[in-house]
Amino acid sequence: MRRIVSTHYHPGVTVDAALDRIVAAWDHVRERFGAYSLVLPGTPSFICQPNLCTAHCCNAFSVNLGEAEAARMTRETGMALVQFLELEDGDPITLPLAQPFLLAREGGHCRFLGPELGCTVYTGRPNACRLYPHFVVFVDDATGKVTTPPPGDARRALDALLAGQPLSPVPLLLGHAECPGFTGDPLPGASWRTLLEVTYQLQYEGL
Ligand code: SF4
Ligand code: SF4
Repeated sequence: MRRIVSTHYHPGVTVDAALDRIVAAWDHVRERFGAYSLVLPGTPSFICQPNLCTAHCCNAFSVNLGEAEAARMTRETGMALVQFLELEDGDPITLPLAQPFLLAREGGHCRFLGPELGCTVYTGRPNACRLYPHFVVFVDDATGKVTTPPPGDARRALDALLAGQPLSPVPLLLGHAECPGFTGDPLPGASWRTLLEVTYQLQYEGL
C-alpha cells in the first residue's frame, strides 16, 4: 500500500531519447513478467484505492522485512519485535534470506490492516509496502536477460537513464497488474523520473 508524492527530479531533462531503449529492453523480458506492465511517462499514474480492491495487497501478500526495517518499525510504533513479527515458539521466525523476518498476519491478512482498510503502522511499514505496486528490474540489452548489477553499476545505469543517456543494463520501472490503482492522469515525465528514483532507492539501497 503506497502513497505517491510527486516531486521533481532533474527538471528540464527528458528521457525521450531513452524511451526506445527502454521499450526494446522490455520486449526482451515481458513474457517472463506477465504479472507486470511497463510504467512509462504518459501511462496512467497510480492512486492507491483500497476500497476498490478491499486492500488486495495487504490481504494477498506475506511481507518480508530486514533488520533495519524491523528497527524502524519498533522506532515508529513503539512495538517490540514479538508484537509485529510472525513467531515460532515465542521467537521471530528467521528465514535464510537478506530480509529474514515475516510481518505478522491474522485473519487472512496483515495484522496491521485497519477496519477502514488503512495501514495502522503507516510510518513504520516495511519497504515492500512502500514499494508496492512498483518494482525495478535491470535488463542487459546486449543479452536480453534480466541481471542484478553490483550496486555501483546499478546506480550508474540509473543515473545515466535519468539523464537521458542510457547505458546497459537498462532499468525498467514496472507496475503489478493485480493492483487496480493505475487509473490516474498520464504520469508526467518529471514524476516518472522521481518514481523510478524512489523505487530504486527503496529496492536497492534500503531505507
Ligand atoms: S492493491 Fe493497489 S490499490 Fe489496492 S490497496 Fe494495494 S496498492 Fe492500493
Ligand atoms: S504494514 Fe500496512 S501497508 Fe503493509 S501489508 Fe500491513 S497493512 Fe498493508
